[in-house]
This record gives sequence, C-alpha cells and structure tokens, in this order.
Amino acid sequence: MGTQDGGCLWGTMRFRLTGAPSFSVICHCRSCRKASGAPSVAWLTVPLRNFEILRGAPRSFVSSPGIVRTFCPTCGSPITYATAESPDTIDLATALLDDAMAFPPDREIWLDHRLAWEPIDPTRTQCR
Ligand SMILES: [Zn+2]
Ligand SMILES: [Zn+2]
Repeated sequence: MGTQDGGCLWGTMRFRLTGAPSFSVICHCRSCRKASGAPSVAWLTVPLRNFEILRGAPRSFVSSPGIVRTFCPTCGSPITYATAESPDTIDLATALLDDAMAFPPDREIWLDHRLAWEPIDPTRTQCR
C-alpha cells in the first residue's frame, strides 16, 4: 500500500498516511462522541512515523488523562487521537481520508458506551 491523503472540512489541513494501518475501528466511547458530535467515530491506528501533516497546524487538548486529541482550528474537524499508553502510534479519523472507503473498520470498541439507537454491524469484532 502506498500513501493516502486526507483533509479537514475546509481543506486548510491536509495530511498523509503511508503504508497500511494497524487497526481500523469504530469507537463508541462517550469521549469520542462528545469530541465529534457524532454517535461514534471511525479511527485508523497508524505508526506515528507513517503520519505526516502536509498543510495547516492542528490545535490540541487533553480529553482524558493521557489522551490528546487534535482538531482543525479553522473548521473544527477532529483529526487525531493519541494515548500516552502507545506513544509510537496515533489514531487518525478514518472519514477524513480522501479514500475513506479503502479502510473499512473490522471491529467496534467501547460498546458499553454505545447509544442504543445506533446499530452494530454483527460482522465486526465486538469489544466491550
Ligand atoms: Zn473513543
Ligand atoms: Zn479545517
């Protein structure tokens, strides 16, 4: 796999992913929900060295102890999620990629936080 580019809503932020992601998940946790305004968020986990910002500078904030999220300061798109538990990886919002269809999630996590009206895909691995 080569490179995949993506960007925020306005396109003021552009970034590049090189190589294949380690994980492709949908997260139902309350924190992702609040940070995005969406019922769940799809994330790709990638080695930090395989993620590059091409244009723009995100702002960041601590959303929970040890968790840093970034977003576009111009248009507000959530961009990344990073945890101190895994300093060599970063999670990138799957849906921001120009070819988001290329990265179908294969597991759903934090199902204990799921909004009951949001369906689960039974073909995916389910993680409480
Ligand atoms: Zn989450
Ligand atoms: Zn933006």
